[in-house]
Amino acid sequence: MKLMGLLALFVVSVVLAATCAHAMGVHRWLVNDDPPAKSAPSPDAMKNPKYSPAGYNITPLSPVKIDELAKKLTKEEADVILAKGTERAFCGNLLDNHKDGVYVCKLCGLPLFSSDAKFNSGTGWPSFFQPFAKGHVATHEDKSHGMVRDEILCARCTAHLGHVFDDGPKPTGLRFCLNSASLTFIEKGQELPAESRPIATETAYFAGGCFWGVEDRFEQLPGVVDAVSGYMGGSKENPTYRDVCGHDTGHAETVRIVFDPAVVTYRQLLEKFFKFHDPTQLNRQGPDVGDQYRSAIFTSSEEQAKQAAAFIAEQQKIDRFKNRTIVTQIVDAKKAGKFWEAEEYHQDYHAKHGGHCALPED
Ligand SMILES: [Zn+2]
Repeated sequence: MKLMGLLALFVVSVVLAATCAHAMGVHRWLVNDDPPAKSAPSPDAMKNPKYSPAGYNITPLSPVKIDELAKKLTKEEADVILAKGTERAFCGNLLDNHKDGVYVCKLCGLPLFSSDAKFNSGTGWPSFFQPFAKGHVATHEDKSHGMVRDEILCARCTAHLGHVFDDGPKPTGLRFCLNSASLTFIEKGQELPAESRPIATETAYFAGGCFWGVEDRFEQLPGVVDAVSGYMGGSKENPTYRDVCGHDTGHAETVRIVFDPAVVTYRQLLEKFFKFHDPTQLNRQGPDVGDQYRSAIFTSSEEQAKQAAAFIAEQQKIDRFKNRTIVTQIVDAKKAGKFWEAEEYHQDYHAKHGGHCALPED
């Protein structure tokens, strides 16, 4: 009987270990709550790529592309990544890897975890307390094996990675429990393949009245990776909204746009900017009056400066501006001084408070 009891205990232990889990009811973690894509993205989604704030293209891959990538997987890797299997504890090749570097998705190459967040959980599986960047790892409720767990997946290709639990160390209190089979480790100093690198972005700055609306509209434009409200072109260091509203710092309410030039060109940003603000109003936009609301383009390169000047010269001749002078300033961003991010309550203001601004049609 004693032998049977020990045997039963052993079986239970193996089952618990093999499911990589025992914690239940994990709170929602904030990295990415988007459900994973289950079907092919629409053509519109492909025209409107999705980026993580860290500048990686995280547009969901189509099933056709995933099938193509899956051809390189071994049977063991496919069992974990595609069939949501779990490798045996203490068996994965990355459990005891203590080198500095990045862990990318075995299937699509997206960076998922950094060695900085790896810790020894004692569970037998590689463990991390946070993902590489916001938006790179998705969660999905998993009710298999009679438990409720949060499955973790690659946000780009939906590869199964493991599960996340709320018994991890500080600062997040989370434990991302990984299968080594789902990851490829790239040591610091080694060249990252193209699919593991952030996209090459450019930065542009536009001031055109209240930054809430300018930011909101640019954020809707395909190819815009990030839009942030702030202050630029003034004299005071680290100005507050109150300082800027006092009209003696010289700052303009400005939006910093990080964009993917492969999807949207600087010229297209200029066109949109002129559609949704009035470049002929001096130191005001509608009811907002004062130099903080002036129309200005802070250029990040000589090429941008050239394009902005040519664009304004061209616009001045079209019917819309034939009888009105365009007063938009073009200022070298280096000479305009630092871009200061505005207070948090100004960021994504319309998304938080409603009053969404429509993006004008072409
Ligand atoms: Zn992936």
